[in-house]
Amino acid sequence: MDLTKLTLSEYGKSIGDCTKEELYRVLVKYTHTLAEEKRNKNPGKKKLYYISAEFLIGKLLSNNLINLGVYDTIKEELAEHGVDLTELEEYEKEPSLGNGGLGRLAACFLDSIATLGLNGDGIGINYHFGLFRQVFRDNEQTAVPDTWITENGWLHPTDTVYPVRFKEGTVNARMYNINVTGYDSITNTLHLFDMESVDESIVGEGIAFDKTDITRNLTLFLYPDDSDENGRLLRIYQQYFMVSAAAQYILEECIDRGCRLYDLPDYAVVQINDTHPTMIIPELIRLLVEKGLYIDDAIAAVHGTCAYTNHTILAEALEKWPVQYLKKVVPQLVPIMEILDAKVRRKYEGEELAIIDRYDVVHMAKLDIHCAKSINGVASLHTEILKKEELSSFYQIYPDKFNNKTNGITFRRWLLHCNPRLTAFLCEHIGDGFKKDAEKLKGLLEYQEDTAALEQLIAIKNSSKTALAAWLNRKQGVTIDPDSIFDIHIKRLHEYKRQQMNALYVIHKYLEIQSGRLPRTPITVIFGAKAAPAYVIAQDIIHLILCLQELINRDEKVKTHLQVVMVENYNVSAAEKLIPSCDISEQISLASKEASGTGNMKFMLNGAVTLGTEDGANVEIHRLVGDENIYIFGDSSSTVVERYRKGSYSAKAYYEENPMIRRAVDFITGPVLMKIGNPLRLKRLSGELTDKDWFMTFPDFDDYVKTREQAYTDYEQRLSWAKKGLVNIAMSGYFSSDRTIMEYNRDIWKL
Ligand SMILES: *Cc1c(COP(=O)(O)O)cnc(C)c1O
Repeated sequence: MDLTKLTLSEYGKSIGDCTKEELYRVLVKYTHTLAEEKRNKNPGKKKLYYISAEFLIGKLLSNNLINLGVYDTIKEELAEHGVDLTELEEYEKEPSLGNGGLGRLAACFLDSIATLGLNGDGIGINYHFGLFRQVFRDNEQTAVPDTWITENGWLHPTDTVYPVRFKEGTVNARMYNINVTGYDSITNTLHLFDMESVDESIVGEGIAFDKTDITRNLTLFLYPDDSDENGRLLRIYQQYFMVSAAAQYILEECIDRGCRLYDLPDYAVVQINDTHPTMIIPELIRLLVEKGLYIDDAIAAVHGTCAYTNHTILAEALEKWPVQYLKKVVPQLVPIMEILDAKVRRKYEGEELAIIDRYDVVHMAKLDIHCAKSINGVASLHTEILKKEELSSFYQIYPDKFNNKTNGITFRRWLLHCNPRLTAFLCEHIGDGFKKDAEKLKGLLEYQEDTAALEQLIAIKNSSKTALAAWLNRKQGVTIDPDSIFDIHIKRLHEYKRQQMNALYVIHKYLEIQSGRLPRTPITVIFGAKAAPAYVIAQDIIHLILCLQELINRDEKVKTHLQVVMVENYNVSAAEKLIPSCDISEQISLASKEASGTGNMKFMLNGAVTLGTEDGANVEIHRLVGDENIYIFGDSSSTVVERYRKGSYSAKAYYEENPMIRRAVDFITGPVLMKIGNPLRLKRLSGELTDKDWFMTFPDFDDYVKTREQAYTDYEQRLSWAKKGLVNIAMSGYFSSDRTIMEYNRDIWKL
């Protein structure tokens, strides 16, 4: 391929004379041309529509070049002209069209669907700002808008427009497309709907805007603050906007392919990613009736078409919409929801099974469970808890609908792209078959006792650590020691994920070091997390971590043994830098609360050792690598579930009886931190822990400290530690999203 030809025709200059931005633009255009050549020529009759309010796709340039098979040649050609491809990536803005794991999962799935050559597109919303960008100021998180849309980028406008009817009036949904390239395979599409009248200039201070001005705000932000009624109404507007456009598009395409509508399940399968797109069920029914089907035939057709993925058992995260709200926004859906509810009530008694409860509130997950043909959890423990606890009454009436699909990650982004050195090492030792068949990574087990191979793995990890240190220095001006242990905790900030427990450990360790008990190898504790702007305790936890960072950074004596860094604006690009450099992966959610996790899989694939609870997919990681190669601690999910049921937990008692806990907690409101931080935040957080500790950090704390110390001790044995990393890499093939997607297709989609 001749890049010079392209730059000449585009700009009339050779590569060497182009600016980096011009080169970036040329590569985007070239990638688009290559991707278009790989459209599926024989897509077949049935198509998958993966509908999700979030697609956290990350930057696309390198990934597309890798998937299209031209990464190496382009890199070389640029290098001949003294240009570094990785520098060009800096011109790309990361679209933050997701909050965290759920959106990232959708992005990994699109990659695997295309890679496996399956006929399936994504459908979502084109948020102008996506999620906010996080900026630290005075040791607190502030949120600012994050623009990402540029001219001639990956996003392509189309002429496809659908009317979407709200009570207040009809708006237009225009479809924008982003190519989804498969690895050495076909190209599919992510369709994002947007509204022309949206006006970015209405955003004022931070990310505040008039939530009632729907025609100007609808697609501005992902999940704007929903702590008040106007915020919740806006979310209903967004959801209906997405599903109504999607339903029209799906029916139009199916009719074009010869569908007669009552046979819709032969032409389409709609995978509903969490409850946000649930209204597509009544919307499809409504449209089918409008097109002449009897209501019962419409319900049957939609039942055969839709499948639902559950992502959480946290009660507060299961969406419920008051009928009154729906009547204000989309009154045309209410009679259909009432018909569906009446059908359920005729067939089954039991108030907990009803779609609309006696307070006139619609339970979106229950609508999905009754009306979809499949309900899946996202890791084996999670699915078991759904069946036995959370949704047991539904499991009794629909045992065949329930199934498990343990999450996965795309190895293209989370290995080939983010860790080229490790990829080269793997190719050298086990050949490159693992790139298409992740199970082949098991071949690495042969090198468990091979000192030279283990030394190489250590060297690769060290170079990633050095690279991370340089990146952090450039980005945030902090200096960390690449020879220290990198202990990393990156994920959305939530009390159930227990960043507060890690912070308590940091306090504990700080005090230990002050009293002369020094770690053998210095430790660098790295955090990265955004918190929902309205989630006060989460903001307080970020504040505590940032105060600890400042405290330790000022303490010349402690600093050489322990450092704390909170990475600003944790996102996919940051994850790609952080994960290859990790020694210890913190996966410490309260058992039973993390449905799966996918961060845990990315770390494992990159040779980090997990320090975690028996929760989500950690259970499966544990089973795969064995006790020797993971650090498990804390109460089991059954103990936790039982403790909640009995309501027997008293944080106060632990606080009073356990001096180590008391010392760490008291430090939060002690004179040292009070001088650095905001007393209101620190006192509120300390009170939250001693009075409630709803996510039970205290019962797990002793075991957490003990297990973490054991991991640090074992780290000293460099070769046996490297062997643990090797076993983790070798056994991670199961977590390829290619495996997950094959299972979805085998059991649900049947494409
Ligand atoms: C993978 C990923 C997540 C999910 O992390 P968990 O540890 O599974 O919660 C969240 N955010 C980003 C940017 C990710 O890449």
